[in-house]
Amino acid sequence: MDLLSDAKALEPEMTRLRHDVHKQPEIGLDLPRTQERILSALESLPLEITLGKTSTSVTAVLEGTAPAMSGQDTRSVLLRSDMDALPIDEAADVPYRSERPGVMHACGHDMHVAMLVGAARLLAAHRDRLKGKVVFMFQPGEEGWDGAQHMVDEGVLTAAGRQVDAAYALHVFSSLAHNGVFTHKGGLVLSASDELHVTVTGVGGHGSMPHRSKDPISIAAEMVHALETMITKRFDAFDPVVISVGLFQAGTKANVIPDTAHFEATVRSYSPEARERLRTLSVQLIEGIAHAHGVTVDARYVDQYPITVNDESEASFAATTAIDLFGEDKNMHLARPLNGSEDFSRVLAHVPGAFIGLGAMPVGGDPSTAPYNHSALATFDDGVLPMGAAFNAQLALRRLDQLATL
Ligand SMILES: [Zn+2]
Repeated sequence: MDLLSDAKALEPEMTRLRHDVHKQPEIGLDLPRTQERILSALESLPLEITLGKTSTSVTAVLEGTAPAMSGQDTRSVLLRSDMDALPIDEAADVPYRSERPGVMHACGHDMHVAMLVGAARLLAAHRDRLKGKVVFMFQPGEEGWDGAQHMVDEGVLTAAGRQVDAAYALHVFSSLAHNGVFTHKGGLVLSASDELHVTVTGVGGHGSMPHRSKDPISIAAEMVHALETMITKRFDAFDPVVISVGLFQAGTKANVIPDTAHFEATVRSYSPEARERLRTLSVQLIEGIAHAHGVTVDARYVDQYPITVNDESEASFAATTAIDLFGEDKNMHLARPLNGSEDFSRVLAHVPGAFIGLGAMPVGGDPSTAPYNHSALATFDDGVLPMGAAFNAQLALRRLDQLATL
């Protein structure tokens, strides 16, 4: 069997599916059209399919027919593809551009869908070599909706009977690595991501007489600066944290002091200890400043995703698999974690596995300057679809081979 040439033969079909999903992107946990496209692409395959109840997820289980060691429980491996898009107006000049204004597949999840459907096709065609079961996890709501947790709660990890033995998620990047290059790292691979929501309530009034009011804008601005100072003065530079205020809203007119000011920040950390300190110290700081100025404040630290930690041996297994399939020059070891976050961390909290990157930047681009994922200009090259499909399929085949002899 040559997985690569088989995957190459699926390229037109995967490309069509990817373009179709790309043109009609959907956001959040409810992605009916994307779900329907996945179901019709999987229709002819011998899969046991379960649909999500609290989201439009698709869980598909393929059972291999190769004999494993007798008397042993059936082993299983999970492969994850997320499905959702982002609230971005696509600016990339591609023929399959989004037809929904303000919505774009800017993180390549459309690519993941096509690659995982491709892997399901490849593995179904080679069931006779598969020594166990494969769980295909098509997941909505990765972009802040915790779709993975919804699926974990609904039993995706035991969809094949007993808990899956290993789990993998392949993610494309429109920058970072050259076209077709896989990125690997054991241990910590992605940051935790949380949010801070703050509303300062002062006393509004005429802008010419601030002494008769309590200006919430200047107090909120002081909070923003104080948070930045806190990051440099109260956190170890070798256990970094990041706070960026991305939303600041207040007021209606230059000469009117409003009653309230509101801001929201994204908060990133790389260890559970730093995350815990951020949770406590940021709220303490904001409440202290509000108290000092005699205003009230509602400061909420909103938990989102924890750190994503790759199992060392699963990460090195994935790296070896990619090197064996595509060669050393198509593989890159990451020296440090990436600045993103993932709800695949919800899966890795229960099952050893790995989050692996795949460079999908158009050929000839510069990985240090090409628009990154989540940019309105991000573009992902269809040419890597067969690589992703073959890699996913090979991970499952090989890992089940190993597990069958344990
Ligand atoms: Zn993503």
